Amino acid sequence: MSELPDLPPVRLYNSLTRGVEPLEPHAPGRVGIYTCGPTVYRYAHIGNLRSFLFADVLRRALEYLGYEVKHVKNITDVGHMRDDTFDTGEDRMELAAEVEGKTPEEIAQFYTDAWLEDEAAINILPVDVFPRATEHVGDMIELTRQLVERGLAYEVDGTVYFDVSAFPDYGKLSGQRLEQMRAGHRVEVESDKRDPEDFALWKRAGASRLMKWPSPWGDGFPGWHIECSAMSLAHLGEHVDIHTGGIDNKFPHHEDEIAQSEGALGHRVVSIWMHGEFLTLGDAKMAKSAGNIIRVTDLPEKGFEPLVFRYLALTAHYRSKLDFTADAMHAAASGLRRLRRATHPDDTSEVEGVELSEEPMAAYRQRFADAIADDLATPTALAVAHAVASADDLEPVERKALLLDFDRVLGLGLDEPPDDEADVGLPPGAEELLKRRGAARASKDFATSDALRDELAAMGVDVRDTADGQVPARRH
Ligand code: AMP
Ligand code: ZN
Repeated sequence: MSELPDLPPVRLYNSLTRGVEPLEPHAPGRVGIYTCGPTVYRYAHIGNLRSFLFADVLRRALEYLGYEVKHVKNITDVGHMRDDTFDTGEDRMELAAEVEGKTPEEIAQFYTDAWLEDEAAINILPVDVFPRATEHVGDMIELTRQLVERGLAYEVDGTVYFDVSAFPDYGKLSGQRLEQMRAGHRVEVESDKRDPEDFALWKRAGASRLMKWPSPWGDGFPGWHIECSAMSLAHLGEHVDIHTGGIDNKFPHHEDEIAQSEGALGHRVVSIWMHGEFLTLGDAKMAKSAGNIIRVTDLPEKGFEPLVFRYLALTAHYRSKLDFTADAMHAAASGLRRLRRATHPDDTSEVEGVELSEEPMAAYRQRFADAIADDLATPTALAVAHAVASADDLEPVERKALLLDFDRVLGLGLDEPPDDEADVGLPPGAEELLKRRGAARASKDFATSDALRDELAAMGVDVRDTADGQVPARRH
């Protein structure tokens, strides 16, 4: 490929080496990315989506810079235990099926469809392959068999465990030593393991289990970690350039994946491990178990189009925590509106006439490319977009052409008209009144709550009380 020498160097933070390093794809110019996908037993929340969004920006950035990308994102439709650390508890899929009175397959299909719709709503591009764990059980059994053969795994009564003491590198990703991990285990939960840190590759199926497969160790089902090893090897081969996930996947999920894949193959498999930080709500991690989840589909009734969330996510670096607040969303909405206004100038000249390789356009493109190649510095990339939006040295049509070009990475739907008419932002001070009204209602002080409702109405904000709390709407 003649254009290869021109591919700009990309630097990414590698969780494994704890430093920023150059991306050096195994096949020059072509990058294989594996992203740990959702467990489809419930709706994805915007925290989950933040981690998928960062992988989408990574893929778009590499394509923008001229790399050819193969992106694989799995769908976990079996075997994700409730308590991953101890490999105990029930399978989340089966539990959801029981609660909702459906088969595990119906549950998986329903939540997979919902997740794909949520991803589309925030312009996450479909990846090249969406492997489902249930389609790869044969590969998982084969990998488990190889690990047993290599002396890295052992069977106890139909369940196969990985023997961490046989893999000297265990702990290299999370930076933990086996002795420390063992010391953390005060209570021995499963007595048939040789070491409390050993984890299940294959589990024996109980009598009532619905999802089970025959194997050399009897009927059973795969553990969550072996699923990602098997699917990444199946679709990307023995060398995976980049593997992404949320920060909580680092341990034990990715530590175990390294042990399995590298244990079976005898060499390094993943070059760069990338982990996205959490989205928080009032400083608590957004999680179903914490009861503080928001879905993409909840955003419109809060007055925001879903892409405002994408904009919000881009304002923070993927390795920084991001707090989801109404104020931050209002700021994101106005930032998005500003970029869209610049993409819709009164002057309707055609962007096709603009030569992006000429100055001063080329210099702006270079700044944008430098930002995304620098460990995905999306806040800087957005700042370049805003600089373009108000640049004196550019014609309106040139600003538009540049912003549409940047939108290949940003994915903000900048070709959509700005929402001037439907300005959904709340006026200054309204947030504070809503907070006070929420507190008044909680303490059943209805006189104060009514007075605050009137004050809000005077500002042009109507409040509806719902089972989920107050829903403000700005009158137009
Ligand atoms: P799950 O469907 O539970 O396997 O989660 C899907 C992805 O979402 C994983 O990569 C998690 O690390 C990630 N994740 C879960 N909660 C959050 C959060 N609050 N913020 C960002 N990512 C999250
Ligand atoms: Zn995974």
